[in-house]
Amino acid sequence: MNKDTLETVKTLLNQPKKVVVVGHKNPDGDAVGSCLGLAYFLKGRGHDTQVIMPNDFPEFLKWIPGCADILTFDRHQKQVTQAIEEAALIFTLDFNALNRTGDLAEVLEKATVPFVMIDHHQQPDDYAVAVYSDVSMSSTAQMVFHFIEGLDGVNEISHEIATQLYVGIMTDTGSFRFPATTATTHKVIASLIEKGAQNSIIHQNIYDTNSQDRLKLLGVALNNLHVLPEYRTAYISLSQKDLDDHNFKKGDTEGFVNYALSLKGVVFAVIFIENRQESITKISFRSKGSFSVNEFARTHFNGGGHTNAAGGRTEMPLQKAVTHFISILPPYKNALNHDA
Ligand code: 5GP
Ligand code: MN
Repeated sequence: MNKDTLETVKTLLNQPKKVVVVGHKNPDGDAVGSCLGLAYFLKGRGHDTQVIMPNDFPEFLKWIPGCADILTFDRHQKQVTQAIEEAALIFTLDFNALNRTGDLAEVLEKATVPFVMIDHHQQPDDYAVAVYSDVSMSSTAQMVFHFIEGLDGVNEISHEIATQLYVGIMTDTGSFRFPATTATTHKVIASLIEKGAQNSIIHQNIYDTNSQDRLKLLGVALNNLHVLPEYRTAYISLSQKDLDDHNFKKGDTEGFVNYALSLKGVVFAVIFIENRQESITKISFRSKGSFSVNEFARTHFNGGGHTNAAGGRTEMPLQKAVTHFISILPPYKNALNHDA
């Protein structure tokens, strides 16, 4: 965090106030962990804090300390709107544009109080008075740790905060294996373990809670895996029927796309998931090396994210989305074959 940003934030926080901390739509481990970690830290400093998410988060995160107090906009519109109207300061975490909060964006856009952004996605929008944006960071949760360091607050990290931030870092780094995992990430993790994060139990809580339905859905996804060797690309598709047949719950398809990326020689992996309720096909993109799925998702699928992990959507039905995807690959042939 640069000095100016730090000074701005210190001034904004120099007396106790109502603070709202907002994460992105379809919150993941980093959104939930970083928002709760920051909120607990600020609460410890005397602020009145409320964490808000646009919609619900997956079951496998529902043990994180403080998660029961999160307000979701889709279920508690009135309370959320009131909390935002009453807030003196709004933190937005783990996203770079207000439209990443879905319908909640309208409420946020009306707010006249200062915004502070903490985020690691590329090309941040310009709505905050203090922007702590660093695309080299493993996770927003790691940035919250550095933010706390900047405010000389490391000694105030409780075992709850340590747990919340650990979840964010662990989930966004694929358990410390993605390229953005640095020596500093591991030092932060070491510090969180010292402060009481139970690393092995946290890992079990997140990853060892599969239902039979989810594993069988994974089986369907792996059966639907297609490889395009000339583009070093692999993709998976899941229809609404596939989901319905396996009692799909939010978060069940998390990580599926990584199986496609684990194929030898593949540098670009995609999963297409039909969502009849929203009349869209949701798409996740992953890559290895320099091929930017952020650019690809922005250019073709109304999305974005990071160089190696991004998401997007289309109103095309599933099969059409897949056909369209294959049809736009030729110009990328060189880039995909040049890499890693
Ligand atoms: P996922 O594929 O797991 O949904 O998302 C991968 C990454 O891309 C995450 O960092 C997520 O925040 C980002 N992302 C996912 N969907 C979108 C989207 O529609 N727009 C933008 N800008 N980023 C997205
Ligand atoms: Mn993140």
